[in-house]
This record gives sequence, C-alpha cells and structure tokens, in this order.
Amino acid sequence: MGAGIGGIATAVRLAVRGHHVTVFEAQESFGGKMHQLELPGGYRFDGGPSLFTLPHLVDELFELAGRNPQDYFRYQRLDPITQYFFADGTRLTAWADEEKFAAEVETKLHVPAADVLAFLQRSRQAYSATADTFLQKSLHKASTYLSPDVLKAVAATPQLGLLETMHQRHQAAFPGDARLVQLFDRFATYNGSDPYQAPATLSMIPHLEHGLGAFYPEGGIYAIAQSLVRLAEELGVEFRYQEPVLEILTAAGQVTGVRTAQDVYDFGLVISNMDVVPTYRKLLPTQPAPERTLSQPRSSSALIFYWGVAHRFSELGVHNIFFSQDYKQEFEAIFQQKTISSDPTVYVNITSGHTPNDAPAGHENWFVMVNVPHDQGQDWPALINQTRAAVLARVSKALGQDVAPLIRAEHVWDPPGIAARTSSFGGALYGSSSNNMLAAFLRHPNFSRKLEGLYFCGGSVHPGGGIPLCLLSARIVSGLIN
Ligand SMILES: Cc1cc2nc3c(=O)[nH]c(=O)nc-3n(C[C@H](O)[C@H](O)[C@H](O)COP(=O)(O)OP(=O)(O)OC[C@H]3O[C@@H](n4cnc5c(N)ncnc54)[C@H](O)[C@@H]3O)c2cc1C
Repeated sequence: MGAGIGGIATAVRLAVRGHHVTVFEAQESFGGKMHQLELPGGYRFDGGPSLFTLPHLVDELFELAGRNPQDYFRYQRLDPITQYFFADGTRLTAWADEEKFAAEVETKLHVPAADVLAFLQRSRQAYSATADTFLQKSLHKASTYLSPDVLKAVAATPQLGLLETMHQRHQAAFPGDARLVQLFDRFATYNGSDPYQAPATLSMIPHLEHGLGAFYPEGGIYAIAQSLVRLAEELGVEFRYQEPVLEILTAAGQVTGVRTAQDVYDFGLVISNMDVVPTYRKLLPTQPAPERTLSQPRSSSALIFYWGVAHRFSELGVHNIFFSQDYKQEFEAIFQQKTISSDPTVYVNITSGHTPNDAPAGHENWFVMVNVPHDQGQDWPALINQTRAAVLARVSKALGQDVAPLIRAEHVWDPPGIAARTSSFGGALYGSSSNNMLAAFLRHPNFSRKLEGLYFCGGSVHPGGGIPLCLLSARIVSGLIN
C-alpha cells in the first residue's frame, strides 16, 4: 500500500514475477513526495525531490519487464550540476567533470586542485567499499551480524569512517578553506542528517553526484513516477486511489489482508510503503512494535516555497545553493533547538531552463527549499514568515536584485503539510536520521520479524530515503519474496 516511488517500483518488480498486485493509495494520485503541482499563471513544479542520481536503477525496472527504457523515460547528464553562492560573495560552479570542478575550486577558492581530486577519489573508494554491504542487501537477515561484538568490529573499520564525523573529515581534507568544507558538509542533507554528527561514512555521497553524475529527467522528476506507473499498469497492476488502508489484517502470526474504508481484501502478502512509524501505530495497533527502531531520531524535514518568478536569471541553473554564514549554528538550530536558523542556507531548483513549458516565456519556476526540523508542534506560521524574509534577503543580496516584487504565484509546503500528504512521521523527508554511527543498522528491515507475509519498502526503512535508496528497497523486498 502506498504509491510512492518505493511502492510503485515494488509493484513493478512483483508484477514482472507474475504476482497479482493491487496498490492502495490514500491520495487522489501517485507519487507521494514525488508529486507535481501547478500554480496559476502557467507554472509547474516538482513537489518534492529535485536531484536525481543513479538513473540505471529506474532503467533496470523497464529492462526487467522486457521494455526499452527509452520508450518510457529519458534523461540527460547535468553539466554544470550546481551553482554555489557563498555568504562572502564567492560564486563557484560544480562542473560534472571532476578535473574541471577541481580547477574551478583552485581558481575561485585557491585550494589546490590535487587536494580536491584526492578527496573525490577517497569518496569514490568509500562508496565502493560500503555501497554493496549497506545499500544493496538486507542488513537484517543474518541476525549474528547485529551482535554487539560484530557491530563494534564493524565500527572500528577505518575505511567506513564510523568513528569520525563528516565535518571532521572535511575539515581535515581542507583545513585552509571553510567554504569548501561547507560545500562537502552539505551532502549530509542528502539524507536529512547533520554533518557535525553524521559519521564520515556519508562522505561517500559526493561521489554519487561528482563521480557517477547528476541527471535531469525529460519533463522533470515527476516523469520518473509517471513512466513507472505507466509500466506498472501495462503489467496489470491495479491502482486504487483515494482508498487508504486503515488496518493490516492478521491471524496466527500471518498477514491475511487489509481493511480500507470501502472494503476488506484478502492478500497473502502485504507491502507497506507507508512510513514505518504510522504503519505500526495506526495499521497494526495491537501488534508489538519495535520500539527502539521506531524511536530513532527523525531526519530533517523541509520548508518549501514554490514561486512563479517574472524574470530569468542567467546566473542560475537547475540546482542553486545560497550558503548561510554560519553552517554549524544552522544545524544546531535544526537538530538541537528544533527550529529554523534566522540565516538558513537556501536551495533553489529551477526546471524551466530545461523544460520550457514549466514557466511562461521570460519567467522561471523557483522551488525554494530550506532544511528544517521535523514537526514537533512548532509555531509554523511564525517560522514561515521569518524564513520567507530571510530567504528573500539572502537570494536578493546574492543576485543583486530584489526578488520579492518578481513573485507572481506562491505556494508553501511545510512539515505538517508533508506529514498530512504523505503520512511521513513528523514530515521527516528520509525517515530516521543518519546522525549516529549505527543508524544504518537501526533502520527497520524490509520485512517483519513477527508477521509472516509483511514487508516494507520506501524511505523510512532500510536502506534509507532518497529516490535511489527507495528503488533499492524495492529490489531488496522483491528478493526477499519467494
Ligand atoms: C521536499 C523534498 C525534497 C526531496 N529532495 C530529494 C532529492 O532531491 N533527491 C532524492 O533522491 N530524494 C529527495 N527527497 C526524498 C524522496 O522524495 C523520498 O525519499 C521518496 O520520494 C520517498 O518515497 P517513498 O517510497 O518512501 O514513498 P512516499 O513518497 O513517502 O509516499 C508514500 C505514499 O504512501 C501513501 N500512503 C501512506 N499511508 C497510506 C495508507 N495507509 N494507505 C494507502 N496509502 C498510503 C501516501 O499517500 C504516499 O503516496 C525529497 C523529499 C521531499 C519531500
């Protein structure tokens, strides 16, 4: 149940293997966090994710079904990837080519290109050393793996970087330039974590973008969900929209089906793409819940302003980052004080440069995002007002133009709104955070230890949040089902 990207991909995999699959979706359409929205005046936005890596994980689904991926879904490698605007006025372009990027860093930040290349090489090695173990398989099948002794031994492996933080590793790599440290620290936010707490293992994330590439799907990110739903429907998957599952039915330690507001259905297998916390709390209220797993700290959430902007900024690309002055304070605000810094880093995603229909001629569609804590009852209307002003001040200063009068259409999505639309606990974007060294082991497995026939996919369970990991969760679930 759930037509998020993890649920759709699982449905495709099981349908390919001959299962009869029904997807119950609470909302009127598919996509979950990966939805799209339109604003008056002719602006279209991808509602949630904007950065796309590891596209072969999407292609793989079409290939499994014997289809040519290009008949359904096309994408191109982005170059440049990101435009960075530092608080001191420095601008830096992240080119797709690592050598070109390193040369740009040397010119603009005066850090030797060789140091940047050495860091990226280390990131590549860390990715190669860990991805297979941590991302591609179920970590939870061999229970001995989770014994305290084994965990201690794993933690001590220097290559894994579990005993130092991301920030410490970046600081050691680039002691002379706080801007470059900030740039690489930012990759902690790719799974909603804090670089000052998250283990240096996550320093493999830059390799995903700089080494393996960032990609732009033709038509925007929503095209991923759209093309996969088309494939799923061709394979006979039935999507039942506006039919939330209210209860997972069980008997004698086995799932037997689901209950929705409309009916009761018998099924031998149930796969939850709903966040694992409400899956237990709401759909399995009488079953024992894995409290330690469910109580892990949440990842960050987001506050997003969708703006139709009556101007084209030639200095902006698809991904643009306007860094704050004090990154440490920003993460303390999110993870310790549970609020939003008065000077947050601002991410602006603009797709109208690549997909002209996303905005009227001469205009742009700005998806403006700030990292924020998950919802714990904060005064969101006040925080939204304060943050909107801070965002406008930062981008207007960096661009040398007052952006506020250019806004022609606006919509806001905040953590309570994310929770309401997707059932994510507290509106966290990536389930639990990766802020401690054992977080990977403490994520909920892709299967239930207590109930035969119950499986889990999507961003709140192993291997984690983000499009590629949700797609991998589908691959793992499919592998676990005989
Ligand atoms: C603002 C934002 C920015 C992001 N940026 C990026 C990015 O740049 N790159 C990236 O890779 N990732 C990004 N992510 C994360 C990424 O979008 C998610 O990890 C991924 O889309 C989650 O997919 P999922 O399979 O977990 O399902 P979700 O998208 O969480 O969808 C779950 C679905 O289940 C449905 N559902 C829930 N409960 C029930 C029920 N009881 N019955 C029936 N249906 C139910 C919901 O309605 C929903 O459709 C971002 C997310 C957000 C919100």
